[in-house]
Amino acid sequence: MGQVVSERSVGSNGGSGPGVNGHGDATIRSYAPATGELLGEVPNTSADEVRAAVARARRAQEAWGALPVEERCQRVLRFRDAIVDRSDEIVDLLSRECGKPRHEALLHEVLVAADMATYFASTAPRALEPREIKLHLFKHRRSFVHYVPRGVVGVISPWNFPFQLALRDVLAAVVAGNAAVLKPSEVTPLIALKQKEIWDGAGMPEDLFQVVTGLGPTGAALIDSGIQLLVFTGSVGTGRRVAAACGERLIPCVMELGGKAPLIACADADVERTAQAIVFGGFANAGQVCLSVERVYAHREIHDRLLERTIEITKGLHVGDPSRAFVDVGAVVFPPQIDVAERHIKDAVEKGASVKTGGKRAPGPGQFFEPTILAGCDHGMTVMTEEIFGPIVPFMQVATEEEAIRLANESHLGLNAYVFSEDTDHARRIAERLQAGGVLVNDVLMNGACPDAPFGGIKQSGFGRVMGEDGLRQMCDVKHINADRVNLGARDPLWFPYTEASYGWFKRGLRALYSSGGLLRRIGELF
Ligand code: NAD
Repeated sequence: MGQVVSERSVGSNGGSGPGVNGHGDATIRSYAPATGELLGEVPNTSADEVRAAVARARRAQEAWGALPVEERCQRVLRFRDAIVDRSDEIVDLLSRECGKPRHEALLHEVLVAADMATYFASTAPRALEPREIKLHLFKHRRSFVHYVPRGVVGVISPWNFPFQLALRDVLAAVVAGNAAVLKPSEVTPLIALKQKEIWDGAGMPEDLFQVVTGLGPTGAALIDSGIQLLVFTGSVGTGRRVAAACGERLIPCVMELGGKAPLIACADADVERTAQAIVFGGFANAGQVCLSVERVYAHREIHDRLLERTIEITKGLHVGDPSRAFVDVGAVVFPPQIDVAERHIKDAVEKGASVKTGGKRAPGPGQFFEPTILAGCDHGMTVMTEEIFGPIVPFMQVATEEEAIRLANESHLGLNAYVFSEDTDHARRIAERLQAGGVLVNDVLMNGACPDAPFGGIKQSGFGRVMGEDGLRQMCDVKHINADRVNLGARDPLWFPYTEASYGWFKRGLRALYSSGGLLRRIGELF
C-alpha cells in the first residue's frame, strides 16, 4: 500500500517535556497537558490489526444493518443513557487528557454528544425512510429512493473535541446501519478508549464500533482497509493527504478541515454582547476550536469601545489547571500549538500590531498560553490569514462594512463566520454574502452543537456535510428503484425497432412537450 504518513505524527509529536504525547514503537503515551503527568499507554495499532478490526466490523454490520432503523435507534439511545450516567468520569478524563475546563467538558463534549445521539435517533427513521419521487415525464413508472447502509465507515478525528466529534460521526454512521471504526488522535487516545468501554458496557454489539489507536500511519491503514466511507476531521495539510489517499482508492470522503472564522462588528452592534462573544468565541477551549473567532473586523465607529471592553473581559479570565479549580481557560493540548501562537504574535508585532493583553506562555508546569488580544492588525500578518488554533484574537479596524465583507472573504478557508448588528435583517443580508459553510448572527460557535443543521466548510475548509438530515443521508448509499405503474405490454414504444414513422412521431413529441405551450406541465398536472 502507498502509505501516506503525517509529518507531524512521526516527526515532532514524539518527545519529552510536560504534556507532550510521546510514542514508542508499539505504544503511544498520553500525558496530561495541564500537569505533564503520564496518564496511560495505548497500542500503536499496526496495519494488519486495523484490517482485522475492519473485517470484524464488517461481519457485525451485516446483522446490524438488517435491523429495522427504529430498533437501531433504540439501542443507540441506551448508549446515550450510559454516557449520561457516566458523565462524571468522562468529564474527569477530558479535563485531565485535554486540560479542558470542567464546564466545557460537560457542556461542549458530554451534553453535545448526548444531544447528537438523541437527534440522530429521533430523526433517522424519518430521514432514512424510502421515499417516492414524482417523475415529471415517465408517468407510467414509479420511482423510489432508498437509503442503504454503506458498510464500514472509517472515522479519523482530532484532539480538540475528542469526545463529541468522534461520536458525532460514529453515531450518525451506526443509526444509518453501518459499522464504525474510529482512529482517534494520538494526542487524546484515552478518551476514545473510554467511549469504547462505555459502548461495550451498555450492551452494544462489540464489533460494530471499534477503536484503533495509533499515529498517522494507523489512519492511513484505515483508509486502505476496505472501508466504504471515510469521515475525516483535522487539519488542511493532513486532509489533503487523506483526500488523495481516498481518491486513489475511490473511497468517498467527508472532509472537515480548518477554519479562520471572521467576526464582523457592524457600527450598530451591541458592544457588550459583541465583546463577550469575542472573548467566548476566541478563548473557549483555549482557542482550539475550528470555529474559533480568529479575526475581528470592527467598524471604525465601534472599534475603540469594542476593543477596550474585549481587553477588559479578557483580563478577568481565569487560566489554569481544570482538575484543581473551576477555571475559564484550560491548557493548550498539543505543545506545538504554543510555538505556532508565538510565531503569529512575533510576526504581527514586527509588522506593527500591538499586544493589548496576554502574548506569552503562562507560568506553571503545564502547557498554558495567556489569552491574547492583538490590535492594529492587517492582512499582511499571518495572524489574520492563517489558522491560529490557539488563544489569540487579532483586531482590525475597517472603514466600511463593504471593506469588512471583502476582507472576511479574502481567505483560503471558509468554515464559519460571524456578524454582529442590532439590525438582524441587515446582518442576515451580510451573512448571505460571506463565503462560509455556516454564518451566525449575534452568536458564536453554537452551530457546532446544533445537530439539526448541516455542518461543514467550503474552500479549503473541506467538503461534504455532517449532522442534519443531509449528514445522516451521507452515511448511506442512495439507491433508486424504478418500477412499472401500468403494464405497457410486451413492446415499449421507446425500444427497437427504430423506424422513419417513429422518428417523426418523436420529433412532433419533442415540439409538443418542450415548446412554450407546456404540454409537459399539463401532463404533470394530470397525475
Ligand atoms: P491533524 O490533521 O494533525 O490530525 C487529525 C487526525 O488525522 C489524527 O487522528 C491523526 O493521527 C490523523 N492522521 C495524521 N496523518 C494521517 C494520515 N496520513 N492518514 C490518515 N490519518 C492521519 O489535526 P489535529 O491537529 O488533530 O486537529 C486540529 C485541526 O483540526 C485544526 O486544523 C482544526 O481546525 C481541525 N478541526 C476541524 C473541525 C471541523 O469540523 N471542520 C473540527 C475540529 C478540528
